[in-house]
Amino acid sequence: MLRTENLHYSYPKGSALSFADINCAQGEHWLLLGASGSGKTTLLHLLAGLRKPGSGSIHIHNLDITQLTGAALDHFRGQHIGIIFQQSHFVQALSVRENLILAQRFAGLVKDEKKILARLHRLGIADKADKKPFQLSVGEQQRASICRALINGPDVILADEPTSALDDGNCTAVINLLKEQATQDGATLLIVTHDGRLKTNFDHQIKLNKLPI
Ligand code: ADP
Ligand code: MG
Repeated sequence: MLRTENLHYSYPKGSALSFADINCAQGEHWLLLGASGSGKTTLLHLLAGLRKPGSGSIHIHNLDITQLTGAALDHFRGQHIGIIFQQSHFVQALSVRENLILAQRFAGLVKDEKKILARLHRLGIADKADKKPFQLSVGEQQRASICRALINGPDVILADEPTSALDDGNCTAVINLLKEQATQDGATLLIVTHDGRLKTNFDHQIKLNKLPI
């Protein structure tokens, strides 16, 4: 359900990156391992339609998202893709609940506070709904980020280095949480990381190498 072919990306005046093909079935959990600078974040942005590849295709549900632009691409992303960024980018002036309402609005969906509270509850932070993001601990902020990525029921969940700042205990907890939520939602999970601790947690793995074009 998520498939790439011959993806290439070049930053202006920067490195030219080429990526091994990916082919994930619906509901599978994948780990993409790569050293710093190997293009993990770039690839995640391509898969989320936040950057356009120089060449190649990205099929999600048999639709080539590289052919989508503007509102159609934003709409597709809002409906199908949940992203956990390396930095969480919450609006600090708004509460966690309001940030999540914003995520529903951006996806063109109606506000559904019941859904928000239910998901916060599943992630163990329902009592933080009316706190501002900066009032949460790092671990709680990460759960809030996961909540935002999952609130619109995406069928692809993309996570950028979700464990790199965590100790072993929290690392395991976050990975288990992501896998559990993805499984319950039937979503495809793709984690990009340089964190070698995750190697044993995933049956499906790809190693990203920096390949000169
Ligand atoms: P990773 O996430 O694996 O550390 P990135 O995708 O961030 O790798 O970066 C891949 C390569 O692209 C690196 O060589 C990096 O220096 C370069 N790069 C990343 N962002 C930019 C940018 N905005 N402009 C130019 N080069 C960039
Ligand atoms: Mg990165």
